[in-house]
Amino acid sequence: MDKVNAILKNIFGFDSFRPLQRDIIQTILNKKDSLVIMPTGGGKSICYQIPALHFDGLTIVISPLISLMKDQVEQLKQLGINAILLNSSLSTSDYNNNLSIVRNQKTKLLYIAPESLFKEEIINLLKSIKLDCITVDEAHCISEWGHDFRPEYRQLGEFRKNFPSAVCVGLTATATPRVQDDIVKNLKLVSPTRFIASFNRDNLFLQVLPKGNSFDQTVKFLEGHQNQSGIIYCFSRKQVDSLHEDLFHLGYSTKPYHAGLSDEERNSNQDLFIKDKIQIIIATIAFGMGINKSNVRFVLHHDLPKNLESYYQEIGRSGRDGLKSDCLLLFSYSDIAKINYFIDQKEDQHERLSAKTHLNEMVRFAETEICRRIPLINYFGEDYKIDNCGMCDNCVADEKELTDITIPAQKFLSTIKRTGEIYGAKYIIDVLLGIESDKIFSNRHQNLTVYGIGKELKRKEWQLLSQQLLRKQLLFRDAEFGSLKVPAKAYNVLLKNERVFGSIKEPEFVAKKVKPVDQSFNNELFELLRKKRKELADRFDIPPYVIFSDKTLMQMAIYYPQTREDFASISGVGKSKLERYGEIFLQILKSYCAKKNISSNRQGLRPSQNKKTADKLRHVVVSEAYNAGTSLEILVAQYKVKLSTIINHLGRYVNEGNKVRIDGLLKYITLSPYRHQKIFDEFKKDNSDKLSPIFEKYKGEISYNDLHLLRIIFLCKHS
Ligand code: ADP
Ligand code: ZN
Repeated sequence: MDKVNAILKNIFGFDSFRPLQRDIIQTILNKKDSLVIMPTGGGKSICYQIPALHFDGLTIVISPLISLMKDQVEQLKQLGINAILLNSSLSTSDYNNNLSIVRNQKTKLLYIAPESLFKEEIINLLKSIKLDCITVDEAHCISEWGHDFRPEYRQLGEFRKNFPSAVCVGLTATATPRVQDDIVKNLKLVSPTRFIASFNRDNLFLQVLPKGNSFDQTVKFLEGHQNQSGIIYCFSRKQVDSLHEDLFHLGYSTKPYHAGLSDEERNSNQDLFIKDKIQIIIATIAFGMGINKSNVRFVLHHDLPKNLESYYQEIGRSGRDGLKSDCLLLFSYSDIAKINYFIDQKEDQHERLSAKTHLNEMVRFAETEICRRIPLINYFGEDYKIDNCGMCDNCVADEKELTDITIPAQKFLSTIKRTGEIYGAKYIIDVLLGIESDKIFSNRHQNLTVYGIGKELKRKEWQLLSQQLLRKQLLFRDAEFGSLKVPAKAYNVLLKNERVFGSIKEPEFVAKKVKPVDQSFNNELFELLRKKRKELADRFDIPPYVIFSDKTLMQMAIYYPQTREDFASISGVGKSKLERYGEIFLQILKSYCAKKNISSNRQGLRPSQNKKTADKLRHVVVSEAYNAGTSLEILVAQYKVKLSTIINHLGRYVNEGNKVRIDGLLKYITLSPYRHQKIFDEFKKDNSDKLSPIFEKYKGEISYNDLHLLRIIFLCKHS
């Protein structure tokens, strides 16, 4: 493994492996077939690239997208690796030239498209040399259950039989077990080891806001992301075009992307985006496959995605470099209706139902009051154990003031019952508000006692109430028809006067800006470095992130390296990049530091242990400061956040198996001490980390702050 570590540092410039990478590499080197399931940005590429450099013979990488192959080969070239590609986009002379490189064994890594692979001349060529590894990237393309089935991938199983001594590796970001099994079967993997990484992407900040004036909301969001690259997803081509036009007129650097544009225009817009020549791409779901750009800092969903799978894929295109990225979804009920309309056009009833179930899951995610990672990660069959992620709107928000909403809840539920449980929320609210509509008159619902009894609330407030009843499972929405139904559980509210607590105040719009790193970097210097990177990228006609990632530039703007040696210890600087770009960037660093009288932050650079502080997440920094004696009040002032946010940080730290000092917490708990034990007993009974069931059980009697604090104390005492 020494050689493997050396490759990681010298070639790729990284200090340590991410989870699973080392095991995967070892397994491939042992020539054991493997299936690697890792989310986008998880770091799949080096899992086969490092073994490829280690093997004597050739590794081929089969990849469905020409743009992706080109990008990978370019990145490898920048690292000083002579990777090549074979596909239909090459000129005859380039193609033949690359063939002879393979024949003469002058390369260890060949990227190849399936259509080239199955040519007889290629198979014969590969048989004539030593082939050590067959890598199938985007391996889900082999499965018809996956989202981009490619029939030609099906021949890979047969192809493989020609090379019994080569190990075979499938890689994908698609998680469903059915697709996994399909890959194993069709690739004819021999008792493969399955590596399944967590689907949690903890550097993505997840936020959902009720859609109001979406254009204003978009502009406000973009104001927090100046000079950053991002994607805005819209539902339709028309929306893409009009949003692009409006933003473009305001001076934003945008381009549209959708299936209605010519291939040429689409490719050109994508290229401009990848090369940082424009900042924002406004797109339909057609955009994204085959984008390797690592410095996408935000994804804005202007409209509701059809399902959680798409949402996850789309937000996953941001933050591949591991830096914080901002994902905002604008959520409106009319979007649900729009999607439902399209679903209703489907012929097949089974398909219709399945699409509606998926849509419901999406809506439940948007409506959730608990950590957003719980429904999202659970969707992929993974148990998300942390109660507070600190990286979603719900986890960082202060809990809302809860009030008794029993009476409006009763009115709402009884209107559903009286109208026969066959209508959606809009109709129910119409009846409550006493609207004079033809539909109501033809149903004679103006004669019901509930007609017009809800005028004390606005339509919006009734909608919020309805959402809360759904979340509390005091209400159900029929997946197929969207009608609201009253479940047995709600009879306690309706008939026995059981209290319901909630909030029907409209949530206010808050545009939260997420800083890409916790430790502050020198922004002025970062911009200078970024400018130089762009200039070089333009000169060589390659994407800027291929030269250095944002993360690497940021580290330069934290540590101010002044010598070649210090420069080489920055993450992402391998030997080849040091040779190519070291002097150029050092010059900027040196002259900047001289001008500003700044000295290199060498302690930060070495020993490499300290370097991790730059990557340390805020909850660790905060908790360590707290343990060192800083009070919660001081932390609140220092970070300019609410007390509950600081408590969330401590909670996350403790959840990760650490301890915090208890003495500094007690005075913040409002629940009288004699009742603490009762809550501790609840924690004992329920082993999960989730607080919401306890919160619900003690409706309004105990605040989330108290619960969080008691849970921290409980964990510290009992672990
Ligand atoms: P995937 O193919 O799974 O989407 P990539 O292989 O493109 O992900 O990796 C995503 C990003 O993470 C790249 O910028 C890559 O250089 C970086 N990366 C991968 N492994 C490491 C590591 N061990 N340390 C630091 N960065 C890494
Ligand atoms: Zn969360």
